Amino acid sequence: MIVVLKQNFMQEQLDMLLHWLQEQGIAVHQSLGEHSTVLGLIGDTAGLDTDLIEAQDFVEKVQRVQEPFKKANRKFHPIDTVVGVGGVKIGAGNFAVMAGPCSVESPEQVSEIAAAVKASGAGILRGGAFKPRTSPYDFQGMGNDGIELLLQAKAQTGLPIVTEIMNVSHLPAFEHVDCIQVGARNMQNFELLKELGRCNKPILLKRGLANTIQEWLMSAEYIMAGGNQQVILCERGIRTFETATRNTLDLSAVCVIKEKSHLPIVVDPSHATGVSRYVKQLAVAAAAVGADGLMIEVHNNPAKALCDGPQSLTPAQFDDVMRAVNQVRAK
Ligand code: PEP
Ligand code: MN
Repeated sequence: MIVVLKQNFMQEQLDMLLHWLQEQGIAVHQSLGEHSTVLGLIGDTAGLDTDLIEAQDFVEKVQRVQEPFKKANRKFHPIDTVVGVGGVKIGAGNFAVMAGPCSVESPEQVSEIAAAVKASGAGILRGGAFKPRTSPYDFQGMGNDGIELLLQAKAQTGLPIVTEIMNVSHLPAFEHVDCIQVGARNMQNFELLKELGRCNKPILLKRGLANTIQEWLMSAEYIMAGGNQQVILCERGIRTFETATRNTLDLSAVCVIKEKSHLPIVVDPSHATGVSRYVKQLAVAAAAVGADGLMIEVHNNPAKALCDGPQSLTPAQFDDVMRAVNQVRAK
């Protein structure tokens, strides 16, 4: 981190800052130029509050030269991380597809969809039991009963399951869940992230609706700082001025994440577009750009789905998407 001082700073002010930095374990390299004084901060500056330093009236500007995320940073961990979800590997060339309904609705619905997506090559079954809905009057999910139905489908098909957590207090119900999803709306629920950092399960961390890639990586850092290194990132579209699609799929995030982080990243074209007929092309594009997997919503009767029907594929459509994705991956 670099701190540039204003021309007319006073020595006591600099001494005070140096003392404060020393207390935080930061060494300082001073460069005293004719027109400006620049301090180079050496050490672990991740915990330093740049705004606090910048607020000092003798400070011109503060600039980070290193990203504030360490554990998620490729610089400190150059090799791709592989996360295992109930035996299915994701990352470092291992490509995995998570598919299933937006929400778990009934035993028949889940088992029918689970069998279908497995037959088409999905490696992981998804399904929401606790649903984050914009309206409190919409279907809120089956809760614990929904998790039970997912576990039944897992027993029937052998597919590991991923499902979303909304509240720390629900964690005991996730004991047999293979991968815990943190949804877009909870990406910055730091207390939840801290708790998940203490558990020994893979976490699928979706990107927030209006969050930068750095904020997203800082959320991964929360989980990793707690000791849990099994984080899978999921790009699911961000909110822009565009209204033709539900969100705007930021495929460049895959390139940026691959450069900045060693964590695996999957793409969710279903929530990104909100439109089932766009899912195939974007799934193919995500595979082509180097994503480590996909998350796709599939329903046995999209027209009757209790949540996200318009973006859900039928099993036959999903099968067609899998063929196209496999083709592009084989090239
Ligand atoms: C979901 O996966 O069903 C979901 C709610 O996704 P997101 O958090 O990305 O909106
Ligand atoms: Mn959904």
